[in-house]
Amino acid sequence: MEFSAVSPYNVAARAPLPDKITIYDSTLRDGEQMPGIRFTPEQKIAIATKLSEMGVPQIEAGFPASSDQDRRAVKMITDLGLKSEILALSRTMSADIDAAAECEVDLILMFICTSDLHMQYKLKMTPEEVLSRVETSLDYAHARGLKVAFSSEDSTRSNLMFLIDVYHTAERCGASRLGITDTVGCANPEAIHYLVNKVKENTKTPLSVHLHNDFGFALANSISSLEAGAEAVTTTVGGIGERAGNVPLEQLVMALKHLYKRDLGIKTEGFRALATLVFDSINMTIPPNQPWVGLNPFSHESGIHVAAILNNPMTYESVNPEQVGNRRRLLFGKHSGTALVKSRLAEKKVIADQEQICDIVRAIKKAGEDHGRVSDEEFWAIVQKVVASELKGPARDTR
Ligand code: MN
Repeated sequence: MEFSAVSPYNVAARAPLPDKITIYDSTLRDGEQMPGIRFTPEQKIAIATKLSEMGVPQIEAGFPASSDQDRRAVKMITDLGLKSEILALSRTMSADIDAAAECEVDLILMFICTSDLHMQYKLKMTPEEVLSRVETSLDYAHARGLKVAFSSEDSTRSNLMFLIDVYHTAERCGASRLGITDTVGCANPEAIHYLVNKVKENTKTPLSVHLHNDFGFALANSISSLEAGAEAVTTTVGGIGERAGNVPLEQLVMALKHLYKRDLGIKTEGFRALATLVFDSINMTIPPNQPWVGLNPFSHESGIHVAAILNNPMTYESVNPEQVGNRRRLLFGKHSGTALVKSRLAEKKVIADQEQICDIVRAIKKAGEDHGRVSDEEFWAIVQKVVASELKGPARDTR
């Protein structure tokens, strides 16, 4: 009998997804803005190369105006001649645009904030000044021969009429893509759907979304945005980034592929290695419960689950670990049962009777209650002890 790994109740999407979905990964820019971390230029090159090899279409490589080191790193990445398009962040300032131009990027990601809060307290500019800045900056960038994607910052807290005015201005000035930004991650899936929908109704240019995870909605919001017609999404590896982070690349790609039947052509088998590269670079461990790339999603300890997994892994997994370059681990601990013990003994051709197996399981559970995870070495020591004591002890009834 054939079993489906995902729920038969999944529908493709509430609305047809756009024909072309572009992922632009910002691990090297927003990801690096995670407090306390930095990538060396060599690490940036390794990560960009891996992203490109895996088929991520666009890579936001950095913010060239932010430091000399960032500018050099972006230029080193554009010099690699990767298959992916290379993007760089820029404010609406000629110095930023010049810095991005020097790096010879394929596309600049120009942004200016549009919420009253940001315009008043950060930018100290009036809405009229913002509109005119959008125009002069886009004209300047185009005069320098650059292709521009234009994003409004803090879009989800901006006045909708003003936001549309800003996008109209950017569109009129030839922006090749418009961007909605949920800068503080405060939109829910319904809000982002409404906003994307309104912007799509009023503009003709492809639209991207940059979403943060402050309420834990980043991934859901990305799907909601695509359903409302957005064509591009920012991701980062493992969802790293400012505060609660961004949409995790691997989670969006896997959700689209398996739950929405949209294969973006990204080589998912590289996800675990990519996450390891990124987390090693910042001296962090991948959180164990991280979907797809952590160790727990494919680790099983509970006796009931392990017994079923040994018969058919799909009983407690929806996707094979090989698909994301991860591996399955069957572990011993306080929740262990007999099935894994029997299976391990059979692998090594160790003979034990039912009573011995029960003794082994009891000892594993006790060790697990005592200190959690029971290692393979500990398991074999327990086996040794139980089986050896049997050999040394008096003859026993083996009913
Ligand atoms: Mn951000």
